[in-house]
Amino acid sequence: MRDSSFFTKVVHHKADQTAAVHSKATPIYQTSAFTFKDLDDLEKYYEGETSYLYSRERNPNPEELAEGVAALEEGSAGVAAASGMAAIFAGILSVVKPGDHIVAAEDVYGGTHNLLSHELPSLGIEVTLTSFRDQESIKGEIRPNTKLLYSESVTNPFLRVEDMTVLQEIAEKNDLKIMIDNTFATPYLLRPLKQGADLVVHSATKYLGGHSDATAGVLTGERELVEKARQKIVSLGSNLSPFEAWLTYRGTKTLGIRMEKQSRNAQALADAMQRNADVEKVYYPENVSAEGNGAIVTIALNKSIEMNTFYRTLGWIKIVPSLAGVETTVSVPSRTSHRALSAKDKERFGIDDHVVRVSVGIESSDDISAQLEQAIEASK
Ligand code: PLP
Repeated sequence: MRDSSFFTKVVHHKADQTAAVHSKATPIYQTSAFTFKDLDDLEKYYEGETSYLYSRERNPNPEELAEGVAALEEGSAGVAAASGMAAIFAGILSVVKPGDHIVAAEDVYGGTHNLLSHELPSLGIEVTLTSFRDQESIKGEIRPNTKLLYSESVTNPFLRVEDMTVLQEIAEKNDLKIMIDNTFATPYLLRPLKQGADLVVHSATKYLGGHSDATAGVLTGERELVEKARQKIVSLGSNLSPFEAWLTYRGTKTLGIRMEKQSRNAQALADAMQRNADVEKVYYPENVSAEGNGAIVTIALNKSIEMNTFYRTLGWIKIVPSLAGVETTVSVPSRTSHRALSAKDKERFGIDDHVVRVSVGIESSDDISAQLEQAIEASK
């Protein structure tokens, strides 16, 4: 049997951290808590002189990610969360309380639609989902207790670009906050805070991370609101882990070159699909920004196309119920993101099995178009 000092030594051995370590990349602070030398040192945390106590509250990796995204979005503060949904929930709760009312675009992401139409009303928050295509329908829904307008800068799957001038005008007139999900556009294309939004949220799982290997969310905007949201994240325990934050932050380094290439590839694919007689409709927005129109192309194929054959012959383009990786992937909104919509709503929005959302990657542009064209040809 080992002498008793073994059991102490094995637990308390630690590398000498007094020597300066100049790591080029930020280390992963994979710790649940931080240490303190004495009571004075501990008090410094509560007096705001030091930043870290417990990782659910603050950790350098999520902070680095949030600050990086805030800088790109030109927000005064940012906070990271365990997922896009966690960031959306915290952001909304920073503005509204039970008894308040939200007017939201009806064509938001399915998970957000569910949060707005089921979870928030169950907490006593009133929500009206309406068409944001028509400003009269937004104005018609404003009530005395309305506090927030919620939408996405570019919607899913039909890529409607939100008219921020209209939202700003309505918000100003009615003293409302505006919260925008900027996941599809990213700050490379659009910066909604500069167009009147008070809060901008991201599913960082998508383009910010960019490699389909981490689930994360970031909220940025007015400092006061972001700090309220941070408190919600701490209380709900929906903080982002250090490793997921580190991976996502690393992904942001290539956001510019990925979006540049992916938007160019998407434009080329949209043009090729426009020329294809077996494609009934191509949804690809115009004039989103001077930098491009984004990296998602949605196509509605002719009803004569046999869809299972189409997917089986897509080869290296896989069905993935997500988007924004470096690989081109396709998703089937009717079966995944919009599955929960009623049959009536699916019909109203035009979502059926022939609608395919293509998340365009960084491969050679000609190869992407050729891969889709041969699958369409094989499925006739
Ligand atoms: N917002 C948009 C536009 C999305 O597409 C998604 C997920 O697909 C989310 C929010 C939710 O993000 P997460 O899955 O990271 O919670």
